[in-house]
Amino acid sequence: MVTPEALEDIVGSDWVVTGKEQTAAYKTDATPFALMPEAAENIIVVKPADAQEVSEIMKLANREMTPVYVRGGGTGMAAAVIPTQDGIVLSMERFDKVEEVDRKNLMVVAQAGVTLADLLKAVEAENLLFPPHPGDEGAQVGGLVACNAGGSRAVKFGVIRNYVKGLEVVLPTGEIVTMGGKLLKNNTGLNLMELLVDSEGILGVITKVIFRLYPMFAGMATLVISYDDRHEAIDTVPEILQAGIIPLAIEYMDRDIVDLTAEYLNMTWPAAKGKAYLIIILTGANEDEVYFQAEKVVEVCQKHNAVDTLMTERREEQSAILKIRSEVQSAVSPNADSLDTAVPPAEIGNFMDEVDKIGEKFGVKIYVVGHAADGNLHHVLMKDVADRGLLEPIKDEIYEVAMRLGGAITAEHGIGKKSIYLLDRYTDERQKQIMRDIKKSFDPNNILNPGTAIVP
Ligand SMILES: Cc1cc2nc3c(=O)[nH]c(=O)nc-3n(C[C@H](O)[C@H](O)[C@H](O)COP(=O)(O)OP(=O)(O)OC[C@H]3O[C@@H](n4cnc5c(N)ncnc54)[C@H](O)[C@@H]3O)c2cc1C
Repeated sequence: MVTPEALEDIVGSDWVVTGKEQTAAYKTDATPFALMPEAAENIIVVKPADAQEVSEIMKLANREMTPVYVRGGGTGMAAAVIPTQDGIVLSMERFDKVEEVDRKNLMVVAQAGVTLADLLKAVEAENLLFPPHPGDEGAQVGGLVACNAGGSRAVKFGVIRNYVKGLEVVLPTGEIVTMGGKLLKNNTGLNLMELLVDSEGILGVITKVIFRLYPMFAGMATLVISYDDRHEAIDTVPEILQAGIIPLAIEYMDRDIVDLTAEYLNMTWPAAKGKAYLIIILTGANEDEVYFQAEKVVEVCQKHNAVDTLMTERREEQSAILKIRSEVQSAVSPNADSLDTAVPPAEIGNFMDEVDKIGEKFGVKIYVVGHAADGNLHHVLMKDVADRGLLEPIKDEIYEVAMRLGGAITAEHGIGKKSIYLLDRYTDERQKQIMRDIKKSFDPNNILNPGTAIVP
């Protein structure tokens, strides 16, 4: 086992933390408490300043066979970051510089510990746009890549994977490698960079990221469409897309979850009517283009019996609406679990119906919020469900329905340590073995985030 003294020799004594109380904050994330695996007792937190120091730490840990857990913002929801064996938590908090906003290439180069909030600030100061917005802006750039985060704005531009163009990575054996670059096209051999995206901290330590950017939209508006019938809301979604309008986001929220979150944030939801809402964010090269899209969207919504339509172009009002949507996970916490299934977008209405039936069968209220155009729903099961011993049977039935409809057990939160049993249940043996083989070729001694994201 690596000692604190050996780590101090690499990073200096100010950047090594030991002791139960001092390390406690490095042992949790945003996973529902009841599902969080127990963290190990003896954790050393180390805070390197650059890739060279990370490399020395990894070489040492590999030699001593000491587990290393890379920690970003600690906002993950799958317990991926929890150190479950005695070892090292490698905190990326000192990698906090946006190195370059490259206007000509439309790229940003950021160290892995830059938070999403700081990345957005730097990019927007140059009137450029980084479109993805997974809920918590405390997430770090490296964590976003390691989790291939999605979020509400994936409809038009997709998930984080679509933005990653280059990475600097320290391998578990200590070598520093670069993958990709400021390139839009690159077919050089097998794409290892793509393997690092969504690798949940098991293949390498990401130290630097190059993201693609877009010009800031001159026009942006947010619509809140209210419905009395949830199915009418869902049926609207494909028709909007078929009408040739691709919004930045189409989010679905039940009234119950809106009220809960607005109250939690002490904010006011702008719509008074309705039991179900679509939040639609439209962008365009100018105001006229946005108005044109808005008219078409409202037409489709009214055809589906929307009871109210609100539109705002004011930045603060748009941010307030997005905030209420983004903070749902925090507002429903502590909950028993928040699922993250995906189904083909056209199946989303059927999926909701089937989950309603499961809720009725067990006599349980199942809240739902989701990325409606992506087919990605978050079903929230509150604590009383677990107290009644119904959590696992209900989840099992929801997963069965999702898989029957051609879905996936996780769309954006990942497997982490929380859902390995599901990966095991729903993946064939050959694919599980390939995943193990890939892990072994990156990390022969299984020191980097052991017990995460693959079936042992
Ligand atoms: C309120 C809330 C709302 C959210 N909403 C969404 C949403 O809408 N869509 C969505 O997709 N996600 C959502 N998330 C989850 C979010 O995407 C992830 O929490 C985020 O991507 C993780 O970043 P992090 O820096 O906090 O990583 P951490 O939680 O610190 O770590 C997560 C994993 O990434 C690894 N990791 C972190 N940094 C590095 C690195 N530099 N190199 C290698 N591995 C690393 C860790 O080892 C761990 O396995 C939400 C989370 C919260 C709390």
